[in-house]
Amino acid sequence: MCADAAGDGLRVNLPLRGLEVASSSVQTMLADAAHQFALAEMRPAGAALDRLPADAVIAAGSLFWVVQRKFAGFGISPTTLRNLPAEEGAELQSILFEELGWGDAGLAISLGAGMLPTTVALLLGRPEFARRWEGKGLGAWGITEPDHGTDMLDPTHQISDSGHARGRPNCVATVTDGQLCINGQKSAWVSNGPVATHCILFCAYGNGPGSGNCVVYVPLDAPGISRGAPLDKLGQRALPQGEIFFDNVRIPLDCLACPPEEYSRAVYLTLTHANAGMGAVFVGVARAAYEHALAYAHERKQDGVPIIGHQNVRYRLFHMFRKIECARALNRRVMRYNAVNEQQPALQGSIASKITSTQTAFEVASDALQIFGGAGLAREYPMEKLLRDARASLIEDGCNEVLAIKGGSYLFDPARLGK
Ligand SMILES: Cc1cc2nc3c(=O)[nH]c(=O)nc-3n(C[C@H](O)[C@H](O)[C@H](O)COP(=O)(O)OP(=O)(O)OC[C@H]3O[C@@H](n4cnc5c(N)ncnc54)[C@H](O)[C@@H]3O)c2cc1C
Repeated sequence: MCADAAGDGLRVNLPLRGLEVASSSVQTMLADAAHQFALAEMRPAGAALDRLPADAVIAAGSLFWVVQRKFAGFGISPTTLRNLPAEEGAELQSILFEELGWGDAGLAISLGAGMLPTTVALLLGRPEFARRWEGKGLGAWGITEPDHGTDMLDPTHQISDSGHARGRPNCVATVTDGQLCINGQKSAWVSNGPVATHCILFCAYGNGPGSGNCVVYVPLDAPGISRGAPLDKLGQRALPQGEIFFDNVRIPLDCLACPPEEYSRAVYLTLTHANAGMGAVFVGVARAAYEHALAYAHERKQDGVPIIGHQNVRYRLFHMFRKIECARALNRRVMRYNAVNEQQPALQGSIASKITSTQTAFEVASDALQIFGGAGLAREYPMEKLLRDARASLIEDGCNEVLAIKGGSYLFDPARLGK
């Protein structure tokens, strides 16, 4: 046993976010407020929503709506973050989403996806869409389709098997009588799909061969739009997901935010932002699992001995701590780099952060569950939910193995091959 494990008097009690030094008082204030919100609102709401059928999550008056309303009251928006100096805004964003993820992964993703149309409008240099939607309703990103998953995140075909003919799109926008006309559907995985008020839609443009893709801002109350039933799924159950169907949906031509020639860049910028956000959220999920395990290891007495007295438990906890510190450091770094280099952010950095954080969250949640022993499997404890939430993240926003191939493609420089 190890009564003397930290008995040299040199043990440092680290703050919530570990080895981080707050760089400004604004940062400390926002971080504290976000943590309180995550603790008081998101944790209990996420746990309660996790147990509900998918349609009850979005029913009028559910805790899902309470969290959305209270978060809106915070007054944090893509525009407020962008109005700060680049590095400061990036750090705040990273801290904010870590805290939201710590509160509840599904709700954090819902809040992030809700703001994505505004963020993308700013990234694409179309602030008129940001002005139109910011602070009004809930957004969604419609990109994947029933017949197109991760390949939709790869319009330049860096990851796919080039030996096959491409499948047909499931959702197409055409120009008809001076308006955009949209037909088809997006996949059942669109976050906020069943409840969003507006959507940034990435879809095919025109029916002809080689006509490309486009980005369109779609108000989801337009005639001809319908939704699928909210999806029942393994983890992140507080996040409503479902199809959006388009039946001859007519919207003004000026809702076209990006023509085919700029489409690859739009996907690049959006994925760069979204993957970095995932990186922050899943640092928070990993931290939540680690904190539960650390507390339990002190509380649980087996045969009269607190289990943290066992060297193997301390060894396991240390590796959990180490992985979280690495994932957090990488996320802060990537967010800062991309904010400072806004015109040419590094997608490989965002992918590295998304994969590192989500893999860390999954491994740490699994290790934390192991430390809980049998109790880890019981729904009475938080571990099984955290493991389910983390598992979904390995697929969300692009499957990790496929994203790694895409990230690797940006390391390849044909000019270095020689003749
Ligand atoms: C929680 C969650 C939230 C989501 N939110 C949204 C959203 O807001 N909007 C939206 O549009 N979509 C969303 N998605 C969809 C998500 O982006 C896709 O599920 C993801 O891109 C994977 O697509 P898929 O499920 O069709 O799998 P597929 O692309 O069919 O891939 C299945 C498997 O095949 C393998 N594979 C596929 N391609 C390759 C390749 N080139 N090389 C090697 N292996 C390969 C991989 O192992 C992969 O896991 C969400 C998904 C989840 C789980």
